[in-house]
Amino acid sequence: MRDFIVSVSGVRGIIGETLNPETLTRFAAAFGTFVGGETVVIGRDTRTSGFMARHAVLAGLIATGCKIVDAGICPTPTALLTSKSLNAQGSLVITASHNPIDWNGLEFAAESGRLLKRTELAELMRIYESEDFRLANWAEQGSVEAFNTAVNDHIANILNCDWISCVRTRSRRVKVVIDCCNGAGSVISPCLLRELGCQVIELNCVPDGYFPHAAEPTPDALNQLCQAVKSKAADIGFAHDVDADRLVIVTDDGIPLSSEYTFAFAAEFMLNKRKGDIVATVSTSRMLDDIADRHGVKIHRTAVGVGYVVEKMQHTNAIIGGEGTGGVIYPELQYTTDGMASIAAIVQLLSDSSDSKISELAAAMPSYTLCKKKLEVPSQRTADTVMKLARKNYLDRQDWPDNQGSSLDLTDGLKRIWNDRWVIIRKSGTEPVIRVFSEAPTSEQAEALCDSTLNSLKVFMSGSSECKVTNI
Ligand code: MG
Repeated sequence: MRDFIVSVSGVRGIIGETLNPETLTRFAAAFGTFVGGETVVIGRDTRTSGFMARHAVLAGLIATGCKIVDAGICPTPTALLTSKSLNAQGSLVITASHNPIDWNGLEFAAESGRLLKRTELAELMRIYESEDFRLANWAEQGSVEAFNTAVNDHIANILNCDWISCVRTRSRRVKVVIDCCNGAGSVISPCLLRELGCQVIELNCVPDGYFPHAAEPTPDALNQLCQAVKSKAADIGFAHDVDADRLVIVTDDGIPLSSEYTFAFAAEFMLNKRKGDIVATVSTSRMLDDIADRHGVKIHRTAVGVGYVVEKMQHTNAIIGGEGTGGVIYPELQYTTDGMASIAAIVQLLSDSSDSKISELAAAMPSYTLCKKKLEVPSQRTADTVMKLARKNYLDRQDWPDNQGSSLDLTDGLKRIWNDRWVIIRKSGTEPVIRVFSEAPTSEQAEALCDSTLNSLKVFMSGSSECKVTNI
């Protein structure tokens, strides 16, 4: 039985408990085997366990004959962009993204920074489990080379995008407070902001891996940033998660916006520049539908997971894609979520909007509230049963009062959609939990929709008392 977590984004566990050096080395050897001992770019976030993890990973990659290009401490999108520019066969980033400080993990990408598909992750797991490693002999051991320009190259690539005009951003001189949670964005993001001509106030930008607040930049974690934006009379506050692929925003009046706004602003900004499709996951805010309607473009919905969004973006040639977590993909740069590119897009949006404040731009967005709850069930098997029953009931009983006027989307879990609201039921891949998310114009409506759906799930389970509802 595994004690670490494997998901579409890679492997994660608690250092010293569920993730140890041996496991990390075995995963690196499995990955070195997977890429045939070719060139692999590595990078890591600032976690204090990253030093150990780097050595464990190097052992596995060198043993399988890989030529390692080490981008050092940098955001995940920076490492993947390095892989793209070097045409490397693989990337391995040591990060646990937004998980707490005692966690770490590995994220894998294939050639040129392309995220692994589910089938490829399964193949990697097969190699890991079977220990079918391609171990190199004495003469074919791998090598390590430091790559010191990853951060500068990433900044240069962003500034080169045709939707950036430094002339305009430098004349607007946006005053920004940036909170990097002492994570991997601590160096690159303040530098990028200065290049854009912003007045920068750094908060928690010491890349030492000691997190001053929760690693996930939820509104509750951003008190210090909200206070700083107000006391410094800044135009905007930005915060990253630890590996800086996500970005969230605090308005000029010190109010933290839901992470859904990052993608919404970025999409609005990009659609003002050019026309093209948008791709979002099924659980991303319907603000995006309204924005797509307003601009007369199409929105495609995918299963939850950056990999699915990327695949759909490539098929539809979409101009932007992302998730409600604050992760946005800019295909001109690369096909992965990039918190630094989001900073540039939003600073440019402000600079293009004459004297508008970010609070005014937020107020002009379509307004919805999300409600997120989960139903804890005794086992994954129970979760499967509940999902099957829910699907059958909602498909068979379209005439239920609860269903009136709704359409069903079965892309990922079960989503019921009305004109101005939706609710989705999804099974967790890693724990015995069913997640119920809803969105509606008011918080009361969203909560009522979430609760009525949870009640139906309990009815489907024939009143089993073995489940527990909690807010998330
Ligand atoms: Mg992240």
